[in-house]
Amino acid sequence: MTPTDETGERLHAHAAALFPICRSITGKGLRQTLAYIGRHIPLAVTEVPSGTAVLDWTVPLEWTPRAATIRRMSGEAVVDFADHSLHLLQYSHAVDRTVPRGELDRHLHSLPDQPDLIPYRTAYYADTWGFCLPHRTRLAMTDPEYRVMIDADLQPGALSYGECVIPGTEADEILLSVHSCHPSLANDNLSGIAVAIEFARAWATRPHRLGLRIVFLPGTVGAITWLARNRDRLQHVAHGLVLTCLGDAGPPTFKQSRIGNAAIDRAAAYALGELGHADRVQPFVPYGYDERQYCSPGFNLPVGCLMRSPNGTFPEYHTSADSLDFIRPDALAGSLALLQRVLAIAEADRTWRNTQPFGEPQLGRRGLYAKIGGAADAGPGAAAFDQLTMLWVLNQSDGGASLLDIAERSGKPFDAVAAAAAALAEAGLLVPA
Ligand code: ZN
Repeated sequence: MTPTDETGERLHAHAAALFPICRSITGKGLRQTLAYIGRHIPLAVTEVPSGTAVLDWTVPLEWTPRAATIRRMSGEAVVDFADHSLHLLQYSHAVDRTVPRGELDRHLHSLPDQPDLIPYRTAYYADTWGFCLPHRTRLAMTDPEYRVMIDADLQPGALSYGECVIPGTEADEILLSVHSCHPSLANDNLSGIAVAIEFARAWATRPHRLGLRIVFLPGTVGAITWLARNRDRLQHVAHGLVLTCLGDAGPPTFKQSRIGNAAIDRAAAYALGELGHADRVQPFVPYGYDERQYCSPGFNLPVGCLMRSPNGTFPEYHTSADSLDFIRPDALAGSLALLQRVLAIAEADRTWRNTQPFGEPQLGRRGLYAKIGGAADAGPGAAAFDQLTMLWVLNQSDGGASLLDIAERSGKPFDAVAAAAAALAEAGLLVPA
């Protein structure tokens, strides 16, 4: 096995461990998921009581599903929640009665165009119940009545979210947001959790300028809850990414933040360009995942979304076909490597000021010619640079252009520009702008 294969297998194993759990926006499944994450990386879990006002929303009641079946009157189970967590409409309330087939039909959800798949459906804010099932099963249900049983509670409880915080040497942070509320769906949900876990583990192995904050939370209301409780720290969000759909075989996709040309937008575009996927940068739209919340106009945070195939563009999306077979170890490993590259660029993309801007400083006197051509400082991202790269960095570092600006204007590789800047800073010719 190559190291990449091993990484891919480790990522896939996280998804496999979490797959059977019936997660929702609150409750036991979400807590079990956070507990699993907390066994692999440091995680602080916050519980916010039902009824708490969060921005324009209210933390919902906690949902506890225990069992749910549709049985023929003979007792034979036709649909059983124990077989697949997608079978129960999320936030269904309790039912225990005989239901005529016609009435039952209004509570069934299936996909006529994909008759063998179970759809994923939710009813968080509707007082109802329902089942999701293959269309073929639904068509075969021809008895006049069925016995419906849903053993579930909707009670005051709490909304749970987890935060993994790895401080940097500066107050500014990278925010990664991972929705963790989907039940047995592998690409939409679990791939993001798996990549985030392994990203945090790798990130923690060396010191960083920027802090890392990963939030694992239920979609929409979880992000709204986190934002409501963290307004005082939002000015420290230097770069942000929502992570989702990172395990399918499609090429990587970056959806820009609402800002569009924030440092994270440019770092992601650069990293995709290195992979030959410059065409996979998509503009912001106020739909999709929790970037909708982070990029709402009042916050307007620099948060984009990193995916492979975008939500809604693959036929497995929000169905039982988004299974462990649908996500691939190599794709997960590729996504992790891309995330690492994007954030390495974002962290290194600083703006400097030339301390000797009047004429060219004497490079030889400062030993800088000796550094050309070699990657002497074998730090992360260390790269060889030529004299022209150094001259570009000196010329452009007037406090306005960032290293990515300089790389793009000069056509020199970003890593070479960053290495030249590091050498110049060490020689005292650059200071942070
Ligand atoms: Zn989804």
